[in-house]
Amino acid sequence: MPMTHQTAPAKSFSFEFYPPKTEEGATSLGRVQATLSEQNPEFFSVTFGAGGSTRDLTFDTVVVIQNKGIPAAPHLSCVASTKANIHTILRAYQEQGIKRIVALRGDLPSGMMSAGEFRYANELVNFIRDVTGDYFQIHVAAYPEVHPQSPSAAADLANFKRKVDAGANAAITQYFYNADAYFHFMDACGKLGIKIPIVPGIMPITQYAQLFRFSDMCGAEIPRWLRKKLEGYGDDKASIQAFGLDVVSDLCRRLLDGGAPGLHFYTMNQSAPTMAILANL
Ligand code: FAD
Repeated sequence: MPMTHQTAPAKSFSFEFYPPKTEEGATSLGRVQATLSEQNPEFFSVTFGAGGSTRDLTFDTVVVIQNKGIPAAPHLSCVASTKANIHTILRAYQEQGIKRIVALRGDLPSGMMSAGEFRYANELVNFIRDVTGDYFQIHVAAYPEVHPQSPSAAADLANFKRKVDAGANAAITQYFYNADAYFHFMDACGKLGIKIPIVPGIMPITQYAQLFRFSDMCGAEIPRWLRKKLEGYGDDKASIQAFGLDVVSDLCRRLLDGGAPGLHFYTMNQSAPTMAILANL
């Protein structure tokens, strides 16, 4: 009798960019995307400024990607938006043959009040399903280390489930440097019957001052040992990058070995840090 080999499902990689504001930025992003496209990505995603501040830039960037034959996934945040506005954007993407959306609430700058028709991302997912049916594959955000505004891990998980119940097909996590947070989150999702793929978001480490500031804002924890070690390198960029590469490659290996369905890289519009990690895997 022939032996049967069970092959593990292939891991998917996706890459996130922000829309460039200048022609130079666009040219440079084109080069970055050409390099990353050699990795056979599942899709390239493009961020969207909350309140629609990058609406046209996001659209233009997404269309360029899609026209190169790479599936593009625009992010769409609903805070401070009207239903009519969101519907117009969805129709424009449908006309371009875009089949995926990363559906988010977004964050308004502090002090700004939302005059929009959506309060939370689950309402956006609901709305997308109402007006476009099953046309879009919808990805939503997940927070293994708990969203910073959430009163508890349980409340945040229940809110994550609302997005899944509203019709999300997949999730991408906020970045984190503690693999156990992801595995615990996956266990908790399993107990609630959540079955959609939840792909870890990966932030390469290339510097630390900005990373620390941003992480404090978005609730991503930098473990003390990692913080201290990075600070200890001072201005020594080469050592920071070499150490960051080791740490993040190790994290990615643990996540993939532990069953993560793929990885989503926050590229910050650079190819080298992500390519170096992929080369290590
Ligand atoms: P939600 O899922 O709405 O959650 C926000 C908070 O409200 C959480 O604390 C949650 O527990 C709570 N909550 C949710 N639903 C309910 C409910 N029904 N009742 C009560 N409480 C509720 N931001 C951008 O502006 N542009 C981007 O392009 C962008 N891309 C991102 C991509 C990824 C992969 C991730 C992880 C984040 C991204 N963000 C982006 C940031 C995101 O907008 C913020 O993290 C934001 O604070 C929450 O968005 P959300 O979609 O997770 O919101």
